[in-house]
Amino acid sequence: MGLLAVNKKVVLASGNAGKLAEFGQTLAPLGIELIAQSQFVSEEVEETGLSFVENAILKARHACAASGLPALADDSGLEVDALQGQPGIYSSRYAGVNGTDKDAANNAKLLADMLTVPEPQRSARFQCVLVYMRHAQDPVPLICQAAWQGSIVKQARGLHGFGYDPLFAVAGTDLCAAQLSKTEKMAISHRGQALQQLILALRERA
Ligand code: IMP
Repeated sequence: MGLLAVNKKVVLASGNAGKLAEFGQTLAPLGIELIAQSQFVSEEVEETGLSFVENAILKARHACAASGLPALADDSGLEVDALQGQPGIYSSRYAGVNGTDKDAANNAKLLADMLTVPEPQRSARFQCVLVYMRHAQDPVPLICQAAWQGSIVKQARGLHGFGYDPLFAVAGTDLCAAQLSKTEKMAISHRGQALQQLILALRERA
């Protein structure tokens, strides 16, 4: 059966309801019905990889094994040049805090770590890797990767988005990611670009 068959079920290897909605909406026109991983398994896999691509593969394989269905996983993070690429794959646990205060703690740590870094050296980028696996032993997963260039501001701006969005000024604009609407962000972000690549790859493979 081709990849673009009507109502093809694919598991999203994430517990994030926002991602399910965003990815689900974008993939629906391809005949893909995206299902939450939580319908099959409650634990998320341990992210033991040392790169975004390794972690995305671990997540996708875990979801395939738990569901017996194809799976889509994403792994993403912020790379700051003045911090030698940190927080990188550790972006969500940068300040060592879990739960609802996580984003605020991570942003406070990033502002503190960047306090003395002058303007021209505050460059950064978001990275996103998407992995699509047909089954848990798939030897040729589809891998799509995109970056979104910008810089770290000195004071948070904007109320939309999540994570480091209020501290990330989009390259070539005066705006932080948190000042963009969901649709505006998805049109240019690391995740939006990787998703467009994935759609092309899925169409080619169908
Ligand atoms: P994960 O891909 O869900 O593991 O997310 C990694 C972490 O990277 C998130 O918890 C955020 O801290 C950060 N991150 C990834 N993408 C974005 C984004 O689009 N905006 C803000 N922060 C992001």
